[in-house]
Amino acid sequence: MAVTIKSEREIALMRTACGYLSEVLDEMVAYVKPGMSTKEINDFGDRLIRAHGCVPNFLNYEGFPGSFCLSVNEEVVHGIPSRKRIVKEGDLLSIDGGLIYKGYHSDAARSLIVGGRDKADPAVLKLMDVTEESFFKGIEKAVAGNHLYDISNAIADYVEPFGYGIIEDLTGHGIGRHLHEDPMIPNYRQHSRGIRLRAGMTLAVEPMIGLGTWEVDFADDGWTCTTKDKKVASHYENTILVTDGAPEILTLPGGRKRKSAEQ
Ligand code: MG
Repeated sequence: MAVTIKSEREIALMRTACGYLSEVLDEMVAYVKPGMSTKEINDFGDRLIRAHGCVPNFLNYEGFPGSFCLSVNEEVVHGIPSRKRIVKEGDLLSIDGGLIYKGYHSDAARSLIVGGRDKADPAVLKLMDVTEESFFKGIEKAVAGNHLYDISNAIADYVEPFGYGIIEDLTGHGIGRHLHEDPMIPNYRQHSRGIRLRAGMTLAVEPMIGLGTWEVDFADDGWTCTTKDKKVASHYENTILVTDGAPEILTLPGGRKRKSAEQ
């Protein structure tokens, strides 16, 4: 699939799709409490998406049985919502989801500590913050005229000194009329420069970082991706618009504003 450049009309539709998703994720993050099942969290988010008149794009994607991927602790991504999976105080939960508005897709993920940041193991909290920061380091390079590997290598440059494992089996991606479009956007070091970035590209940049190894396993359910060493992993993602200057972060309020857990 060719990399697509979006028209002004398409960008406007994606802004709306992404703005709704940003609101949904904010409400979900505030909703999560210890003792909830991941199914309960999924169903809450599903209702929010539909209240906007939109459709969850993860549901039934290649057969995925939930509207959100809810991944706890050693689960990196693609956790299936379940009544049996109960989140508890201090767990790291990644909420990854997207929606379709008038044929255009959005995709974003947030990681949070169940019960609040003060309940986290300090090493896990640090991993979560470094993962989020690595996204911002990466997209500083997502400027028209740069190449794809400028994003990947900015993420790697920031993360590697911490000694964490950068997941290689899964990557970011283009997004638009389809949830997953070209190009693939690796979060680990690249030697070939990849495509040249152009204004109007819409990309989902999503670092996935493990406290230990970068190696992962896929569960028998065909989806859940866990770290091989069962150490915690974190995930953070936004859909962005490449421009001639700083990228617009479509799935954050205001499009350009930095959002941190303290705010
Ligand atoms: Mg994605």
